[in-house]
Amino acid sequence: MRRIHEASAYDTTVWPPSHWRASAPAAVPLPALSTATRAEVAVIGAGYAGLSAALTLARRHGATVAVLEAGQPGWGASGRNGGFCCLGGAMLSDAAIVARVGTGGARDFRDFQHRAVERVAEILQKHAIDARQGPEGDLCIAHSRRAFAALQRSAETRRTLYGENSELIPPEALAERGLLGAGFHGAELNATGFPIHPLIYAEGLARLALAAGVRIFGDTPVVSIQRDGEGWRLTTPEGQVHARRVLIATNGYSSEDLPDWLGGRTLPARSQIMMTRPLTRTERRAQGFTTPIMSYDTRDLLHYFRHLPDGRFLFGMRGGVTAHPAEAARTSALLRDHFARMFPAWAAVEAETEWSGFICLTGSSAPYIGPVPGADGLYAALGWHGNGVAAATLGGELAAGLIAGAPTAIPALMRQPPRRFPLPALRRVALRAAYVWKGLMDGPMPRAPH
Ligand SMILES: Cc1cc2nc3c(=O)[nH]c(=O)nc-3n(C[C@H](O)[C@H](O)[C@H](O)COP(=O)(O)OP(=O)(O)OC[C@H]3O[C@@H](n4cnc5c(N)ncnc54)[C@H](O)[C@@H]3O)c2cc1C
Repeated sequence: MRRIHEASAYDTTVWPPSHWRASAPAAVPLPALSTATRAEVAVIGAGYAGLSAALTLARRHGATVAVLEAGQPGWGASGRNGGFCCLGGAMLSDAAIVARVGTGGARDFRDFQHRAVERVAEILQKHAIDARQGPEGDLCIAHSRRAFAALQRSAETRRTLYGENSELIPPEALAERGLLGAGFHGAELNATGFPIHPLIYAEGLARLALAAGVRIFGDTPVVSIQRDGEGWRLTTPEGQVHARRVLIATNGYSSEDLPDWLGGRTLPARSQIMMTRPLTRTERRAQGFTTPIMSYDTRDLLHYFRHLPDGRFLFGMRGGVTAHPAEAARTSALLRDHFARMFPAWAAVEAETEWSGFICLTGSSAPYIGPVPGADGLYAALGWHGNGVAAATLGGELAAGLIAGAPTAIPALMRQPPRRFPLPALRRVALRAAYVWKGLMDGPMPRAPH
């Protein structure tokens, strides 16, 4: 398997040292595939996309399904993200989406995002998965006066284009709303979305899939995909699966050659999170940031943050461009530094855990759900651009419908196969340059506290 990052980033024998792993009930590891077997559909990857596709294929379409996961369900981004179940999925402005797929296409994609959030809420509620962690809504916090003006304009665009209403919170109202941080210049409150415990959700989906008859094999990396008669043969270290149809749901952990078509079309980018010890009420008040609503800022290189019900505070941002230990140490120090600059009253608060993982960017800056061109029976569902809690869940369901041959309306934006990045060998260099450029555009961070 050819991968873009260092091998250590894909070592599935180790769970990331996340708060989520530490606080989720222990799951029984699923055994590896050790024989040759058959299934109507094989799914590669047991994150939200793969699990929700497998569950839908088995339950709604009556298919026999085998899921092959290099680690254990939720080992990838699905078990280590920020738990923001929110709108999103592409890295494109509304105007760029309209330019690509027209107003109708943009509305279809927005409708997909709303339905995706509702779908997660429904799954959690219907199956009593105890993953919800806070109230509805999300807050976008302006990091400058200019950014607040831009927020007002984009709220207006979304009102016209999608009929969405949001509340703009001017700078002078931030204190009474419990939204004080250094360099906060107003905010927008959107009604959609809610925070979750991401790993409890991923493991809940895995349990539902198992109960629906899906076979999930843990510690089972697929090392090759080959044509075999009418279908495909997937080879793993100790076994093989023959399947008529295959779904690739490997997102930020994809290989360049699984299948070759993927080469150069995705760019796994690191996102990193720190989790503080529980803050006391007095500490929370001292900073003035007390809202239980999940929040992020308007920077291109955004920060995302939220209080957990037990008082811990989650703070996340982009990670390094490589998985080299020296770079990891540098970005870890940067994470701590940005936290202290934005929330100076907590500058000395200890972080209990810190971890990172890969999100998946595509050459088209949009997700893809569809067939692998020229490879009958191979499908892909990936590229959620750092917003996959909801999008990968519904995206997996749509992929299942497509694979089962059921009438399935996939928004046009997600039907366009991702383009290859220009000069794919230099993707990481380009990403580093983009970070520098975006950092300059975002402007300076608030001053460091003494
Ligand atoms: C630190 C961080 C914070 C994030 N925060 C948020 C957030 O708050 N809200 C949000 O919406 N999104 C967030 N995201 C993004 C979100 O987690 C992902 O978009 C989503 O989990 C993707 O789900 P997935 O099923 O497509 O992929 P993943 O969950 O990454 O699953 C892919 C799986 O494929 C497996 N795999 C790869 N290759 C093979 C192979 N050859 N054989 C077998 N298995 C293989 C991997 O082991 C992995 O488990 C965050 C991501 C990170 C890393």
